Amino acid sequence: MIRAFGYAAQSPAAPLGPYAFDRRDLGPKDVQIEILYCGVCHSDLHAARGEWEGVAFPLVPGHEIVGRVSAVGARVSRFKAGDLVGVGCMVDSCQACPSCADGLEQYCETGFVGTYMGVEAETGRPTNGGYSDRIVVKDDFVLKIPEGMDLARAAPLLCAGITTYSPLSWWEVGPGKRVGVVGLGGLGHMAVKLAKAMGAEVVVFTTSPEKVEDARRLGAAEAVISRDPAAMAAEAGRFDFILNTVAAPHDLDPFLGCLKRDGVMVLVGVPATPHPSPNVAGLIFKRRSLAGSLIGGIAETQEMLDFCARHGVAADIELIPMAEIDTAYERMLKGDVKYRFVIDMATLKDGRAAA
Ligand code: NAP
Ligand code: ZN
Repeated sequence: MIRAFGYAAQSPAAPLGPYAFDRRDLGPKDVQIEILYCGVCHSDLHAARGEWEGVAFPLVPGHEIVGRVSAVGARVSRFKAGDLVGVGCMVDSCQACPSCADGLEQYCETGFVGTYMGVEAETGRPTNGGYSDRIVVKDDFVLKIPEGMDLARAAPLLCAGITTYSPLSWWEVGPGKRVGVVGLGGLGHMAVKLAKAMGAEVVVFTTSPEKVEDARRLGAAEAVISRDPAAMAAEAGRFDFILNTVAAPHDLDPFLGCLKRDGVMVLVGVPATPHPSPNVAGLIFKRRSLAGSLIGGIAETQEMLDFCARHGVAADIELIPMAEIDTAYERMLKGDVKYRFVIDMATLKDGRAAA
């Protein structure tokens, strides 16, 4: 076993704290990575606070990992010690079902293995995520960080980036399309940058008036205060596509009403309790669709990283020390994130001294 150290939630009510644990020994197809940065996704908070079913504790969250390869197994040819790499939300899948064959490991018919909240096939033990010093991952699930990228700003691409890139790309967002992004947080701000880079006209729907200026700076043509019924009414029937990233249950009808005929709204937020059901009339009279999307496949994640490198897209981040994770969660709950917290893993040693 390889000794590892990180921060874990011991129970849904406890703050995260120092935690020593084991990673599996390096297998022939494994890559060992010393973690440099890990982004803080709202999913980490949902999981650490036990808001989702099936969370086992202790839990080391974190699935926006950037680090440096320290060792590779005998049968690994794509990576070598010293390479800068990323790991996102998945560390394994069956690699045999039709979805895996299509490069859609996130829809693996037997279920992908999550970077945390998963069960490792090699050991039968729970997986632990990126709020830690090192990780061992099967090489097929390791991404190459394109040369020249700012590493801390690249970390959020591994979840927030791919989760927004995948639906934007699948529903063919591009020039001539008017695209709405609901919620300007980690996912939302990436959606704005990516949709803009794809050539679309982007409009942000936000509950936070103080984010209007930022929305424009990030690439939006305008920002609409979604709590203002008059402002929402003015947008009725004007959108080809809306990506809804909100992490809490809310009324979907005002957003569905903003879609054109045949428009699509895709939900990527995963609130702890369901949204109120949409009004059927809002769907049938304009043949609108309501859909969902889950992260993205491994090949698509590499495509997204390369797209971001070409277009100069990276996350807007606030770098935090590991020990400030609970404060970051509290700020996230208030929508006070500009626009992704990223943990500097060099600060983990402070926690180790305290442990
Ligand atoms: P985040 O940074 O906290 O952003 C969420 C944004 O939603 C907030 O900044 C806020 O923007 C808006 N919002 C409006 N009302 C809210 C409320 N009552 N509570 C919280 N937010 C509210 O979260 P994130 O990391 O982008 O994640 C968003 C959601 O996507 C989470 O549920 C997460 O679990 C989920 N997720 C899904 C996938 C997937 O594969 N489908 C992948 C990653 C994450 P405004 O201030 O602009 O209103
Ligand atoms: Zn995430």
